[in-house]
Amino acid sequence: MLSAWLARASFSRHLPAAVRTIATPRGGQCHICRRWQSHAICSTCLTVWQCAIRRCQRCAITLPAAHHDDVCSSCEDVTPEFDRAIAAVDYDGPWPELLTRLKFNGATALARPLATMLAERIHERRAQADLIVPVPLSRQRMTERGYNQSWLLAKHIERQLAVAARFDVLTRRQHTQRLMSLSAQERALQIRDAFEITSAGQALIGGRHVAIVDDVMTTGATLDACARTLLEAGARSVSAWVVARTPQPGRHANQSAQA
Ligand SMILES: [Zn+2]
Ligand SMILES: [Zn+2]
Repeated sequence: MLSAWLARASFSRHLPAAVRTIATPRGGQCHICRRWQSHAICSTCLTVWQCAIRRCQRCAITLPAAHHDDVCSSCEDVTPEFDRAIAAVDYDGPWPELLTRLKFNGATALARPLATMLAERIHERRAQADLIVPVPLSRQRMTERGYNQSWLLAKHIERQLAVAARFDVLTRRQHTQRLMSLSAQERALQIRDAFEITSAGQALIGGRHVAIVDDVMTTGATLDACARTLLEAGARSVSAWVVARTPQPGRHANQSAQA
């Protein structure tokens, strides 16, 4: 029994990452602590790393304990195009590595547990939408990667919340530089006119409340550009639903205000 398991474990190490996630037997390793158990992310890790955080109602950034309003000072100065944002976790602790594996390393099996965390948070907030739309990739990035991680997340949220998801509402007009390397101002300029509505999307969004799904919100410029495009094309309102939100500089998730 043990030798069969060792043979399988040894064989599995030599498979490409994408195949390994499929080949992992039911009841595999927790993606964070690597303990063998029955969930993709075990309950212990969820308890440790998915702590409740008081967030800005508008942009989902962690609010300092001393900040008593529901909206952060940045959103008071410049109101985002989306009416509210929901994030499952801060982009901190184990989450950046998991999201990198989902996005760049073919670990598509991570979409389901990450989407489940987000769906639970959406459900808690009693947030609703008529339509879920993923942030689209450019044609070039789609060809390089082979899948859109935001669409994988959107499909799981569709199943869990029974809200229709469509990948053919927004397209990305141009191939933008990797945004992670740009300043907030450069990022906003780069992304401003990057999206457009498809003819299928035009027929779907008039008067509807649309939720845009993405893996990470950093400055919010990408989601803001998507929201503006949807609103200009006739959507009634737009929300942003993301797995992870970058915390305020210097603030660790576990040091954040609990709520
Ligand atoms: Zn674990
Ligand atoms: Zn805010």
